[in-house]
Amino acid sequence: MKQHDIEINAIVNNPQAPTFENTIVALEKSGSLLMKVGAPLYNLLSSESNDELQKIAEKISPLTTEHSNSIRLNEKLFTRIKAVNDQKDKLKLTPEQQMLLKDTYDGFARNGANLSDADKATYRELSKEINLLTLQYGQNVLKETNKYSLLITDRALLNGLPADFLDLLASNAKKAGKTGWVLDLKATCYGPFMKYADNRDLRHELYMAYNTKCMLGGEFDNTENVRKIANLRLKIANLLGYKSYADYELVDRMAENKTKVYDLLNKLLAAYKPVAEKEYADVQAYANKKGAYFAVQPWDWSYYSEKLKDEKFAINDEMLKPYFELEHVKKGVFGLASRLYGIKFTKNTKIPVYNPEVDAYDVTDEKGNFLAVLYTDFHPRDGKRAGAWMNDFKPQWMDGKTDSRPQITIVMNFTRPTSTKPALLTYDEVKTFLHEFGHSLHGMLTRCTYQSLSGTAVYRDFVELPSQLMENWASEKEFLDGFAVHYKTGEKIPAELIQKIKDSENFNVAYACIRQLSFCYLDMAWHTIEKPFTGDVISNEKQAMASTQVLPVVANTSMSPTFSHIFSGGYAAGYYSYKWAEVLDADAFSVFAKNGIFDKKTAESFRKNILEKGGTEHPMTLYKRFRGQEPTIDALLRRNGVK
Ligand SMILES: [Zn+2]
Repeated sequence: MKQHDIEINAIVNNPQAPTFENTIVALEKSGSLLMKVGAPLYNLLSSESNDELQKIAEKISPLTTEHSNSIRLNEKLFTRIKAVNDQKDKLKLTPEQQMLLKDTYDGFARNGANLSDADKATYRELSKEINLLTLQYGQNVLKETNKYSLLITDRALLNGLPADFLDLLASNAKKAGKTGWVLDLKATCYGPFMKYADNRDLRHELYMAYNTKCMLGGEFDNTENVRKIANLRLKIANLLGYKSYADYELVDRMAENKTKVYDLLNKLLAAYKPVAEKEYADVQAYANKKGAYFAVQPWDWSYYSEKLKDEKFAINDEMLKPYFELEHVKKGVFGLASRLYGIKFTKNTKIPVYNPEVDAYDVTDEKGNFLAVLYTDFHPRDGKRAGAWMNDFKPQWMDGKTDSRPQITIVMNFTRPTSTKPALLTYDEVKTFLHEFGHSLHGMLTRCTYQSLSGTAVYRDFVELPSQLMENWASEKEFLDGFAVHYKTGEKIPAELIQKIKDSENFNVAYACIRQLSFCYLDMAWHTIEKPFTGDVISNEKQAMASTQVLPVVANTSMSPTFSHIFSGGYAAGYYSYKWAEVLDADAFSVFAKNGIFDKKTAESFRKNILEKGGTEHPMTLYKRFRGQEPTIDALLRRNGVK
């Protein structure tokens, strides 16, 4: 950080007039030592943490926050950046340089650098307030979730639950010093319970507890916080010159503005709603057949859907796992990249790794040129967090003739092999592998000048395209035939099984889409307000979601007080990006589907126009170069079988 400060001071105190080179590029290059140290630290905190590292992080974290704030608030530095930005039309910059200038300038301006001193003070006050409120909101959700528990002592009430799930409930009880089974509102309990529990009254009870969290008064109520956060965000947006918070957020997105977001949501709604209604009618008919003489309610939906799905497809993880031995899947996934992009992976044991389970590969292109180092880390361990992710230890950049290649890591939590069985993946895990590997291709194949624009440093509603695109191969017979063989018999995965995977993936897919859309509309409703909101939180929510209603509406329940994604996470006016990315990946894959899923020309175009380009140009420009037109929802509709 000291070194970084010295570099910043050199920029600020440069006696020469500000230029693109001596200000924007110099700022871009500054802080390289800090990054070199920070990247391994933050990577290891996720994948190989221990008490010592955590103590270091706790100490470092406020210091780095203060450090970056001091740069953001450096007025002399901004004056120089602004001076360069003011002459941008005369500078004859390349598109990549224009993007770097825009990003640099916006990074300061969007944090209030252009405001008068009085407004700057207001901005800081509002920022502080909103940080506190969003934090409090998130903690309320957590605390209210943890507060609830329901002890069951009559085993008969739990009919229908799978044995290992019952074990979990029993161990919940044990931990609380009780005998019996304890239900709670955590994801590990709520989801499976609603799916499997035969007892309708208990399903109802749990549903109501889950959907009235943080809204019935009491110390963790978030209703007022919803109103306050929405209004504070509006104030911040107004202060910075935007009509609404969505207008402010969407400037740096592929979607660009709220009209385009609503346009996508409305198109999807029109296409999926009739199909979702049909799905509802099917589940209702099935429930009736099973002796249910009532309208299927939200607390019945998962339960009857699951049973119907079982009857229709009779497919489960255990049937697929023998065909997905990790070593085979690795060959399949790496092999796919070799077929598409001509790249090769060679294990290199000389490269140091942070744990003996981690492998390091030299990745080379078709001519044998070095492209990247790829680290793979597949199994859960103490000190590794849950989930799966891709990250870099070092980004790619160029300086003159030097092309400094990246070091990329993909980390997963797949069941490890035992003494009698190799590591066998579920179908979802195969998709996860492809997903993270897709991000890593974005990181490895990149060719940019500036590291802050290279690899996966793209707009948030664009970053999931390379990863989700790869998932499309998972159910392609031609791809699976290359590696998915039974680990004992060597027999190829049967074609009927692949077809079943495809069909079962589309089961109730329209309802799932409509549900996602309802969250998108709710998010947009709270962030497109142009006047402070003083009305009733619940009725505003019901109104925002009305067009997406397929299941009966349950009075006195609400999502807004527990919608952490948008009220305490980073998805404000951004929830739509899940759907946006899905539309993109289906649309992009349709080109492969048409030309052949291993077609080199299509792959080459995807590589040149998208994977190599990082965030150096607007994503719609890049996408259109690959696709020849803007994306449409048609390919997604076809994939989902709704058209
Ligand atoms: Zn991803």
